[in-house]
Amino acid sequence: MSSSSSSPAAATATATHILVFPYPAQGHMLALLDLTQQLALKGLTITILVTPKNLQLLDPILSSQPSIRTLILPFPNHPKLPVGVENVKDIGNHGNSLIIAALAKLRGPLIQWFKSHPSPPQAILSDFFLGWTNNLADELNIPRIAFFSTASFLACVFSYLWLHIDTVRHLPVVEFPDLPGLPSFIQAHTPSIFRQYRDSDSDWEVTRDGMIANLSSWGIVFNSFSALEGDYLEHMKKKSVHGRVYGVGPLTLMAGSERLNRVNPDSETKYSVLKWLDNQPEGSVLYVCFGSQKLLTTAQMEALASGLEHSMTRFIWVVRSGFSGKVEGEEGHGTVPGGFEERVGCRGLVIKWAPQVEILSHRAVGGFLSHCGWNSVLESVAAGVMILAWPTEADQFVNARLLVDDLGVAVRVCEGGDAAPDSVELARIISESLSGNVPQKERAKALREKTLEAAKAGGSSSTAMDELVEELRHL
Ligand code: UDP
Repeated sequence: MSSSSSSPAAATATATHILVFPYPAQGHMLALLDLTQQLALKGLTITILVTPKNLQLLDPILSSQPSIRTLILPFPNHPKLPVGVENVKDIGNHGNSLIIAALAKLRGPLIQWFKSHPSPPQAILSDFFLGWTNNLADELNIPRIAFFSTASFLACVFSYLWLHIDTVRHLPVVEFPDLPGLPSFIQAHTPSIFRQYRDSDSDWEVTRDGMIANLSSWGIVFNSFSALEGDYLEHMKKKSVHGRVYGVGPLTLMAGSERLNRVNPDSETKYSVLKWLDNQPEGSVLYVCFGSQKLLTTAQMEALASGLEHSMTRFIWVVRSGFSGKVEGEEGHGTVPGGFEERVGCRGLVIKWAPQVEILSHRAVGGFLSHCGWNSVLESVAAGVMILAWPTEADQFVNARLLVDDLGVAVRVCEGGDAAPDSVELARIISESLSGNVPQKERAKALREKTLEAAKAGGSSSTAMDELVEELRHL
């Protein structure tokens, strides 16, 4: 065990000390570090808990906020986890329950650390995958704040699913009778971690109990905001035991945010992509990207390529190659069909990694064909860009429903991890939505204004952040 930076005794007498415990997966961790940065900027004393191999992921925040300390605890052994795995990217999403169960073994070392600390943290702020920290906080007699890097709609869906798991997991279609808008999802579109649950497996019990424990946290924070999903934030307020729910997103838009730790393409790619965009007419380009992890199957790649080609629309297509040991062409993961780039010529760009935020805010971009990962959703609404939704897994079906059915800022073009759209129909939707005046475009622009408003001083997110900080200061 080691603690760093300044000595514990250096904590100011008045600032509340918070232990931040991120979950080691990119999408979870970056957003919690964005929140941590905001709390540090507002003068709270912060210690971040990491295991050794994840320490370097903190480099950007530690250099930007040198007052933040670290608590480095060894990653606990788990018989089903290969030695050396400390991050979801080392094993893939199917390893979540094992990583959660392994991290839960930090309870003992953490209690020891708290007891021996001269000025221990007065609250724990931890990721929603670490719901077991709620019991830990109870034992330490301090509040625990659950952080969701996701939509509050997802938290609503999760709380219902985990509470009713024995009945709902066998239903072909799951209905949510107490949720605004009475949504329903076919079983295959419920969040992946829920579908992976296994009965009578002690690792999975840790995940399930933790998800349920999130509802009794002292507070719950979302990287979301009321203009995006006010009804669901309100619903969470009613469902949570203490009713303290804060929508503080998009965190990357909050004052002082530095988009810590984002992976940027090399500057040459960035320059040439943005220069190409500069030469395209306003609103004419479709940006196509499935996030940082998803690899499309051969059938999906062919349908998408054909749809793009026959839409006669300008586009930038990000094609990922390889994740978690998988490489292009293996395990049914597709490549760009032969001759495609020659056929589309200068009408389209195919790249490996994009400067996504810059692309979305470029005037030439008129649409985003997206898997609806939550970060992509927030970046798109902040840029006012209409989405063509193709959710594939995890929380993406829930996010797509919010965008298509609740907010009307997106058009659904396909659904499912292995499903491929009809390429003729895809070409038609791309062409009509990019060239025409579809209502989704106007709504996306209006939502952009509300998004920027939320993050400004006096807006709903910055007010919620101030309220959270005020409550924490009084602990
Ligand atoms: N991203 C990027 N360039 C790419 C692909 C992704 O900058 O070529 C960023 C994107 O801006 C977003 C994140 O990676 O911030 C993807 O997160 P999201 O939640 O949308 O999807 P995930 O990768 O978790 O599936």
